[in-house]
Amino acid sequence: MKRQTPSPMAFIALALLLTLSSCGGSESSPATESEVQQAPQKIYKWKMVTTWPKNFPGLGMAAENFSTLVGRMSGGRLQVKVYGAGQLVPALETFDAVSQGTVEMGHSAAYYWKGKTRTSPLFTSVPFGLNAQEMNGWLHYGGGMALWRELYEPFNLVPLAAGNTGVQMAGWFNREINSLKDLKGLKMRIPGLGGDVLSRVGVEAVNIPGGELYTAMQTGVIDAAEWVGPYNDLAFGFHQVAKYYYYPGWHEPGPTLELIVHKPAFESLPDDLQAIVEGAARAINQDMLDDYTARNNAALDELVNTHSVELRQLPDDVLAELNRITQQVLEEIAAEDAGFKKVYESQKAFKEQAIKYHKISEQAYYRARELK
Ligand code: CA
Repeated sequence: MKRQTPSPMAFIALALLLTLSSCGGSESSPATESEVQQAPQKIYKWKMVTTWPKNFPGLGMAAENFSTLVGRMSGGRLQVKVYGAGQLVPALETFDAVSQGTVEMGHSAAYYWKGKTRTSPLFTSVPFGLNAQEMNGWLHYGGGMALWRELYEPFNLVPLAAGNTGVQMAGWFNREINSLKDLKGLKMRIPGLGGDVLSRVGVEAVNIPGGELYTAMQTGVIDAAEWVGPYNDLAFGFHQVAKYYYYPGWHEPGPTLELIVHKPAFESLPDDLQAIVEGAARAINQDMLDDYTARNNAALDELVNTHSVELRQLPDDVLAELNRITQQVLEEIAAEDAGFKKVYESQKAFKEQAIKYHKISEQAYYRARELK
């Protein structure tokens, strides 16, 4: 992780401090090592709200893992109590609760807040955009994090990348999708830019928190839903309310989850605790991807072999058309919104160079290992 180089002013200040402390009499003598160790340290007790059910596999556990890690790394100086969706505030009020300082932290996904700023979905996932590996590269070494911090600044929030599911599934349907016409008229749970794209082909796209999705499908409030992938979808039991399970998740090829911190709370932490928050976020960001990578296929086997789910691939012509509409939607929003354009162009440039290299590395290797 990048560290800021101390400024010349910092060296001057340090030299001055050392000079002053060495000149002083007994009253100002520096504290001994044992005195430093015994000094009482402030304990920070924070609350974190989330958009997930408490302890939900993967997503909810990332918040719990963050809390455990921060507690251990700080020797108990920073304690973060995690609340599931609806325990303190409803799932989709997470952003406001942290922005207003009702709680210090939230764990969620930036694309839920597209009603606050149209740019936020770019920090979760873009249809036909970056995968998990590429998102992490863009955020941490391609300028993405600085843009995200700038976007959330007016909301008094510090964002951190804190989880990634990898490529998701296209979703659960009760009818076969053989052409775009089969999507027309469906009321589907699909947040973010994927929802904007499907709206163009006659889908009524809505966002519903995960914990309410099963009932919404069961009672016919919605006809179709995307959530995550086998590991998470099995946990919610969607196979009991939908017949067809479609892939690939063209709309979410590598969604980043977010930790949001109330800015004044973050700034009130001493430097070492700030570093612990940043380091623990980075750790759970990778850990979540490892969890999904390890568990998705066993869950898919269970869905298909035990629960007789019909696994289907979206036809190539449907995907190609959705890709064409996606580029149109992105260009249109960029033309209307300068903030969106700035982030979109950064991500687009990153994607172009990532694709170029990944064609001869990741993609060539995927192909190579299938050769017989
Ligand atoms: Ca999803």
